Amino acid sequence: MSVSKEPGTLWVVATPIGNLADISQRAIATLRQVDVVAAEDTRHSRRLFTACEIDTPLIAYHEYNERQLAPKLIKDLEAGKNIALISDAGTPLISDPGYRLLALAAAAEISCLPVPGACALIAALSVSGLPSDKFSFDGFLPPKTAARKKELQQCLDNQSTVIFYESSHRIHRCLQDISEVLGGERQLVICRELTKTFETTLRGSVAELLAVLEADRNQSKGEFVILLGPVEKQADVEQVSTATKELFALLCEELPASRAAKLAAKISGESRKAIFASAP
Ligand code: SAM
Repeated sequence: MSVSKEPGTLWVVATPIGNLADISQRAIATLRQVDVVAAEDTRHSRRLFTACEIDTPLIAYHEYNERQLAPKLIKDLEAGKNIALISDAGTPLISDPGYRLLALAAAAEISCLPVPGACALIAALSVSGLPSDKFSFDGFLPPKTAARKKELQQCLDNQSTVIFYESSHRIHRCLQDISEVLGGERQLVICRELTKTFETTLRGSVAELLAVLEADRNQSKGEFVILLGPVEKQADVEQVSTATKELFALLCEELPASRAAKLAAKISGESRKAIFASAP
């Protein structure tokens, strides 16, 4: 008599982007329970496993073997194994391997469940102070200057925040290209080493942040998220007089910004929306 087994589940588990305390209890429990964990770099993940007392077998799943390994993992899932996918840091598939495996699993109607957690772009957006109602994530910009500048040209009129990942050896060159293509006045936020010892968030114009990087070489070290602010709506900003801006700033000390803008609009007769948008 043959016993047919229910297919297993593919768990997509987020791990910390620096601070190990950011791993969730559910992530630990899942990584302990599954039959095998497919990890981008098993040596790297072993450190996390040791810290969290996880002894589930690890196998390497990375961009160089995913073509061969993904179909094999699908067979294992169909045979009833439970598998977790992790990357070196943050959420798998976000500028990390896993797409091929998830595409095959979805096509095979295998249950795929996320265990959400850290993701550098979301952490950066959450502290950037830039508009977060709409944003796009463009991964890593091309490494070569000509291709990078071409891609940056698409941000000339962007109306929402655009997020990029960048490495330490290209951050300075990348800011120079942003300045050349989009102008030194464009608002930018750079989050460096999020959740780690030398965590820094710099906010300002491209020209200002380039000056900071040039004055302090340490500011170019580590891992970076670059957030490009939307093109400023000049009409809105210009409509607000200096006196009203000062009044708004004063009211913001006592009231939530939306109420402060409403009150400043009532007193000055100027546009509430424009006053709100004029916040520094
Ligand atoms: N899957 C990851 C995630 O969920 O964010 C991203 C992996 S991608 C290969 C690595 C890039 O993410 C880094 O080069 C950097 O741009 C960004 N990154 C990862 N950790 C970061 C951190 N702690 N601070 C700032 N940026 C980080």
